[in-house]
Amino acid sequence: MTEWEYAKQIIDTINQSGGEAYIVGGAVRDYVLGNLPDDIDLATSLFPEEVMALFPKSVPTGIEHGTVTVIIDHHPFEVTTFRSEGTYSDARRPDHVSLGVSLEEDMLRRDFTMNAMAFHDGQVVDLFGGQNDLEQKIIRTVGSPYERFGEDALRIMRAFRFMSQLDFSLEEELRDAASALGQKLEQIAMERVAIEFEKMMCGPAYRKALSEMVELGIHRFLPNVSTELVNRVLHDVRTPVNAVSAWALFLYHAKDENWLLPWKRSNAIKREAAILAALFESELDPMHIYSTSESILSTYFNMHGMEDRSRELKQSLAIRTRKELGFDGRDALELGARGAMIKYLLADLEKQVVLEQIPNDSTILREEAKKWLQREGVY
Ligand code: ATP
Ligand code: MG
Repeated sequence: MTEWEYAKQIIDTINQSGGEAYIVGGAVRDYVLGNLPDDIDLATSLFPEEVMALFPKSVPTGIEHGTVTVIIDHHPFEVTTFRSEGTYSDARRPDHVSLGVSLEEDMLRRDFTMNAMAFHDGQVVDLFGGQNDLEQKIIRTVGSPYERFGEDALRIMRAFRFMSQLDFSLEEELRDAASALGQKLEQIAMERVAIEFEKMMCGPAYRKALSEMVELGIHRFLPNVSTELVNRVLHDVRTPVNAVSAWALFLYHAKDENWLLPWKRSNAIKREAAILAALFESELDPMHIYSTSESILSTYFNMHGMEDRSRELKQSLAIRTRKELGFDGRDALELGARGAMIKYLLADLEKQVVLEQIPNDSTILREEAKKWLQREGVY
């Protein structure tokens, strides 16, 4: 069964028990655009307890805002009770959400017209002209952009993110409101801003979105993003293909190893972005190939639009890991090395083997080790 068929099955079950249910949000937008959605979200008139009673496998994943995850044949679907949002006193989170409202009210709380459509029984429910805006390739808020960005400034980042992903334009009043209210982004949790920024950078029209961001002055409210830095990223021939490569581009041009810190990304992203940025300078010398994972090497080729030679390059090395070196810590101890010296000796031998200055042969490595220890004054 396809994802749509599973979703239809959930809708049918809810309808049979007297409730309303629709496919909503990004999945409807993608369907109208003729794209296959990543995941399908549903909205229903039933309350979370009623949804859980209907589906034996369901988990209350976001019960305070009405969300239950229904699992069918191991496929998860978020089913959320129609809800409206109260006032936003901090531009971040609604003060309260109300369940048990109409579909129309649920659509009214959504950010953009293209994201505020519902689908049921082969019909698109389009209350705010979302289909027309999709046709015109325009991003428009549901209602006044000043009000909607004032309620939740993350929507400003989301506008640029969709602009890049879909290669759309921003509606004029939306541009003005983004420019006027950009400063409110400083109140949003950095992790949420960073995720939208990452998605923007990975979209096909990221250059257009990034340029518009600078034109409207929004970059000033993002950490460590100067106009000059953006210009360098825009002129880079490389194209981001994933989050790590997007951050690596900024890191490389910023020439500041701490550039990424205020963005609060995971340690894995920070580490991989730093390795990739260093690779931009190295021209793929054997030591860099050796110390870089195959997946980061593969990202390197993809973002240059080159054929992916990561596997082949890794396989062409004399050794792939320290474990393959014909000499280890025990050998070093036996020859009289002690403490930190062992680490330096192994690193030296490893480098010589990777650079093919000596073969990976234990007899030869032992001789090399003795010479090294002699130079260090051990004998
Ligand atoms: P994607 O395909 O990238 O997941 P999406 O449209 O599904 O895109 P989500 O972030 O998953 O985006 O949000 C799902 C839906 O929830 C959106 O389509 C929109 O209707 C609504 N939504 C999400 N974030 C906001 C927000 N900050 N303000 C108002 N509505 C929002
Ligand atoms: Mg989604």
